[in-house]
Amino acid sequence: MTAISERRRILVGGQWTTPVSSGLLGVVDPATEELLASAPDCGAADVDAAVAAARAAFDSGVWSDRPVAERLEVLAPLAGSYAAGVDDLSRLVTAEMGSPATFSSLAQAAAPAHMVTTLLELAAQHPWEERRPSATGGTTVVRRVPVGVVAAITPWNIPQVVIVAKVLPALVAGCSVVLKPAPETPFDAYWFVELLEDLGLPSGVVNLVPGGPDTGRALAVHPGVDKIAFTGSTAAGREIALACAPRFARVSLELGGKSAAVVLDDADPARTAAGLRFASFLNSGQACAAQTRVLVPRSRRSEFVDALVAEVESLVVGDPTDPVTEVGPMVTSRQRDRVAGYVELGLAEGARVVAGGPGRPDGPERGWFVRPTLFDGVDPGMRVAREEIFGPVLCVLDYDTVDDAVRIANDSPYGLAGSVWTADRARGLEVAGRVRAGTLGVNHYGADFASPFGGFKASGLGREYGPEGLDEFVEFQSIGLLG
Ligand code: NAD
Repeated sequence: MTAISERRRILVGGQWTTPVSSGLLGVVDPATEELLASAPDCGAADVDAAVAAARAAFDSGVWSDRPVAERLEVLAPLAGSYAAGVDDLSRLVTAEMGSPATFSSLAQAAAPAHMVTTLLELAAQHPWEERRPSATGGTTVVRRVPVGVVAAITPWNIPQVVIVAKVLPALVAGCSVVLKPAPETPFDAYWFVELLEDLGLPSGVVNLVPGGPDTGRALAVHPGVDKIAFTGSTAAGREIALACAPRFARVSLELGGKSAAVVLDDADPARTAAGLRFASFLNSGQACAAQTRVLVPRSRRSEFVDALVAEVESLVVGDPTDPVTEVGPMVTSRQRDRVAGYVELGLAEGARVVAGGPGRPDGPERGWFVRPTLFDGVDPGMRVAREEIFGPVLCVLDYDTVDDAVRIANDSPYGLAGSVWTADRARGLEVAGRVRAGTLGVNHYGADFASPFGGFKASGLGREYGPEGLDEFVEFQSIGLLG
């Protein structure tokens, strides 16, 4: 197993160097509340050094000017080395942020491994350079050229999925990268950067500066950064977009969500509730795309609520390293307090707790646990129905007609994801298409790495995954040829 070990160096210009900043990020195991290890908390001088190294590598053309096919040849062994490490990776992420082991092996490790393979395959078929007949005569060569120096700023909840979705397409496109992982999860970023190092990329093409929000802020305003690729909260995304605007730095933002599961009147209650057991509580509810508003037809409300209560009450909460655990601890005490605060708020707003509720779950004596909670009688105007809670808390809202359901689903500042549950797939597709969100599922929710993922409205800008995710790291350049 990859033990988590103390880290004191950062990767800048191909060298593991001691940072200028003496600050440290202490990472605490959320299940035991014990300090695991620490990693550097980089300051502005470290960011300057990393950006300068990335800039020098990019401007030299040592990677950016190489033909895509050559870059892909260098990157190809990553598929094998990543896949070989998934068991270690899964345990590492569970230790860092408390994701339940069974979910971790699937989504924190196997999924990013699958993403590596998918993105490399898509990149091999991507139209990096096309020749088109010009509308005014002659030929136009349309090229996808690297956007430049990319700063990747990432969250703790699915740390590898979001890192791979940025760093790999950026490298394929010919960019240089400065990666700043979340302060809660620096260690899996080291794990990934060490795999990249083994590929023999030129010095300065990949740089690693762990740190907190201030490290991210230093990257966002840095004149040497051409593009920020960010995943995290909507509040931080807004700040980053504003920091990028004066210099027109490119920015892509994968932000928060409050996704609606629209349950149609022909859906089977038991099957729907069983599907939502995963789609709403995945990663202990700490998932941007979690289906957290369940919209049920008023005529069958009690059947759906009863089925959901049975699922929520039987969720296994506890030690995240135990393979039977479905809901682990919240990532930090701050996050635990936030989720617990929303449970209290829901009660104060007049929603009814029908499963779970305030307080600690039975069982674990330590760790930042909350009880998986189901609220019924939720009004669309309540804060628990509008704000992202980011924990195992589910709200049931009822509706009269499908038009009503669509209106309630769309009555949200967010538009990241959603789902429709029905016995009729065609009807499900039609209703899903009316929801203003970036990814939806009929009778399930799950992302597809070959198709674009991202948000409408306050859920973000731009797309990751699929060919669209590769294009986030290019500028389009048209060269007209005459004669
Ligand atoms: P966060 O916004 O607090 O932090 C995310 C990253 O940004 C961290 O690395 C943090 O250090 C850095 N950061 C924070 N403030 C910053 C600032 N002002 N300038 C620059 N960098 C800054 O988010 P989090 O708590 O780590 O993650 C949870 C959030 O991420 C949730 O809102 C969730 O919905 C969202 N998320 C979205 C997606 C998606 O694909 N849409 C995926 C995962 C998580």
